[in-house]
Amino acid sequence: MKGIIFPLEGKNSSNSGTKNQNGSKMTKSSNPFDIIVVGAGPGGAGAAIHARQNGYSVCLIEKEKMNLSGRYKACGGAIDWKMVEVLSYPEEKIERVINTLELHHFDGESYSKKGTGAVVWRSVFDKYLTEKAVERGAKCKENEPLLTIKKQDHLYEISTTKGRYQAKYVLAADGVSSPTLRKLKWPRFVKEDLIMTVTEEIRLNKQKIEHDLGKNSLHLFFSIKGLSHLGYGWLFPKNQHLTVGWGNQLIRVKNATKEFNALLNLPMVRTCLKNSTIERIKGHLIPVGIRPQIWNENVYAIGDAGGFVDPISGKGIPYAIQSGQIAINTIKQCENKDLLDNQGQYYEETLDKTFLQILRKKKNARDRIYQNDQTLKQFLALWEKYRSSEIVRRGLI
Ligand SMILES: Cc1cc2nc3c(=O)[nH]c(=O)nc-3n(C[C@H](O)[C@H](O)[C@H](O)COP(=O)(O)OP(=O)(O)OC[C@H]3O[C@@H](n4cnc5c(N)ncnc54)[C@H](O)[C@@H]3O)c2cc1C
Repeated sequence: MKGIIFPLEGKNSSNSGTKNQNGSKMTKSSNPFDIIVVGAGPGGAGAAIHARQNGYSVCLIEKEKMNLSGRYKACGGAIDWKMVEVLSYPEEKIERVINTLELHHFDGESYSKKGTGAVVWRSVFDKYLTEKAVERGAKCKENEPLLTIKKQDHLYEISTTKGRYQAKYVLAADGVSSPTLRKLKWPRFVKEDLIMTVTEEIRLNKQKIEHDLGKNSLHLFFSIKGLSHLGYGWLFPKNQHLTVGWGNQLIRVKNATKEFNALLNLPMVRTCLKNSTIERIKGHLIPVGIRPQIWNENVYAIGDAGGFVDPISGKGIPYAIQSGQIAINTIKQCENKDLLDNQGQYYEETLDKTFLQILRKKKNARDRIYQNDQTLKQFLALWEKYRSSEIVRRGLI
């Protein structure tokens, strides 16, 4: 996995001394932090770890409580096995090990893609990363939504429901609707780049999951009769749960419930969901195009806030982590070379080289793939054999 660079064995070794300390009860920070990260998803928590590994003082502000019942993120939770290894993600926190991606076309054809991965609960995964950041000296302010952000002289001041914090740099890692960037009046995503999703978390007997879906398989459903023009439906089995999801381009969605029900009514899905219990249902947006602005005056857009998501698969966790790390590296490089005015250019160029270029190409490829059933099936047959980035890079579609 190109770009993920922190090994998570042991504690921080490069510089564990916090430059500035903030007490948890103070309402105004007397000593500003170097960096405030807003949002403790994979982008924010990963950035906080990397910032500490590079000796920066960090305040990680999260609106939700980070306990397992408090914070829910609608997500399939599928990650590559390489990520499990690089993050030293404990196997006991994995819900299911995966080795096959079953790609079903509505008219009955299916394709089987091999590759090892894991399915995790995001509450568990994000908490793990946040704890690693705290172990390395980041201050975590959970259950404290950002309310305001303003710049005074050379510092940003952020107020939350509980306090006020200052820092020279701000990383907006607060998701697709980023309150930080909204308050700073940054340009929004273009509507065509937003995918509307619906997720249901279903409690289901483990044996039934394995009987109906196989022990180690994820299932994707394409071309659900006229209803998922630029997207697909999915069944992601966890241990005793099944995550059922559907996504389509927001501007095309007429009736999300009806369209989601079309997925639930597919024979395979209906059989699998028999006698199950719905525990949660949630809508969420996925940004599949880059925000028109991703840096300005020491503020960085990270992960979903920047629109760093694979437009074909909807995969965003690795890009969130990588963009957080690239932002920290940018700060460090530009400080070392006394080139702070070049941060925006450096950030964008490094993102470009690491993954943005290929994500942009994938967006064009996606439109070709979803032209009609024939092009879609052609892609599914190729995807069975190659990584989607390889298909796009080699111009196979
Ligand atoms: C239905 C669905 C399924 C998906 N499945 C997969 C998958 O299987 N694999 C994959 O790789 N990607 C998947 N993705 C994409 C992935 O979830 C995102 O790309 C990823 O979560 C982005 O991480 P992030 O850290 O940028 O943002 P987020 O994970 O959205 O984290 C943002 C954080 O900011 C916090 N926050 C928001 N507002 C405030 C505020 N005012 N103050 C403080 N904190 C705030 C939130 O509580 C949250 O913790 C899926 C997305 C969806 C919607």
